[in-house]
Amino acid sequence: MKGRFPIAKFESMRTPFYYYDTDLLRQTLRAINDEAGRHEGFVVHYAIKANANPKLLQIIREAGLGADCVSGGEIQASVDAGFPAERIVYAGVGKSDWEINLGLDHDIFSFNVESLAELEVINELAAAKGKVARIALRINPNVGAHTHANITTGLAENKFGIAMRDMEPVIEQARQMENVKFVGLHFHIGSQILDMGDFEALCNRINDLQQELERHRIKVENINVGGGLGVDYQHPNRVPVPDFKAYFDTYAKKLKLRQGQTLHFELGRAVVAQCGSLITRTLYVKQGTAKQFAIVDAGMTDLIRPALYQAYHKIENITSEEPVEQYDVVGPICESSDVFGKHVDLNRTQRGDLIAIRTAGAYGEIMASQYNCRPLPQGYTSDEIKFRS
Ligand SMILES: *Cc1c(COP(=O)(O)O)cnc(C)c1O
Repeated sequence: MKGRFPIAKFESMRTPFYYYDTDLLRQTLRAINDEAGRHEGFVVHYAIKANANPKLLQIIREAGLGADCVSGGEIQASVDAGFPAERIVYAGVGKSDWEINLGLDHDIFSFNVESLAELEVINELAAAKGKVARIALRINPNVGAHTHANITTGLAENKFGIAMRDMEPVIEQARQMENVKFVGLHFHIGSQILDMGDFEALCNRINDLQQELERHRIKVENINVGGGLGVDYQHPNRVPVPDFKAYFDTYAKKLKLRQGQTLHFELGRAVVAQCGSLITRTLYVKQGTAKQFAIVDAGMTDLIRPALYQAYHKIENITSEEPVEQYDVVGPICESSDVFGKHVDLNRTQRGDLIAIRTAGAYGEIMASQYNCRPLPQGYTSDEIKFRS
């Protein structure tokens, strides 16, 4: 699908850079709104940590999604992008005082609280401002997700959330505090989840917890099930939009929402992954003893997922039509893990050819670093590139 990239424009641009197809982003957002909109009480937030590029945030905000933040910087980024405070939620296992204060100053919708100690601090800081903070408790549901070990978050051994057996006592303590208001429960079991059975397991667990709370006559207004829906890294062209129907239908079918309850989602990867590609230029093709290397000008500093999670990204030579050969596609960083893909089939590649590393819109640009004193990669949308001379 070389046709999907404005290659003539790319030729004159400094590489590497991120390219975001905003038509695809808007199509994805429409699918989310259509599928979530079929169900009463479903509210979708965008997990800012997947990609906080202001141009994308604006499009996502215009589509009406709320913002899910995991730091004060992300609260600021959502406010700057115009997300309404009543649609901002804030989770995080280690919230600093300034971050809590920032959330309080903006009157965000809720703090997703991960420990009793944090609850006490929020209560104190809210009291100092004469405010009442809305809080949801993040519960660790001890539900595994069939995904990479570094991106499961809902097991008892993970650092996230409050243990189930502490849920009811902590809610009771919150109710005793004057400057917090208990408004709901929050969960998040992991990322890049494609097996709907994992979300079903979470639904079953929440159903049990709701029954337990009803026995204690505790009312829950909001259930937040986090994010985690995965994307098809193998087939970005064939499956550019994730199966939001299956995802939302699973929750509609399996989660027993009570009268008047709102169900919140926090999707990151599924919103932005497929619309982004990292565009890089081939510097050298080197013949090794057993293989050939395509050495490109992007490195793990621009896209760390392959080095960090052994993640697969589809890689394409978007300027060559020559017969296919195999290459290890590697970056210039002084680390052996700076490899984007091994045994990659590419049209015969030479110096100067443009390479697209696909499905890089989530956890790409935002995780870039300046290691080796490299400049951070720029991000351009298809909208703005159209109007470049
Ligand atoms: C990371 C994160 C998300 C988003 O995860 P995705 O897999 O990108 O959908 C949602 N909620 C919380 C609390 C998170 O930490």
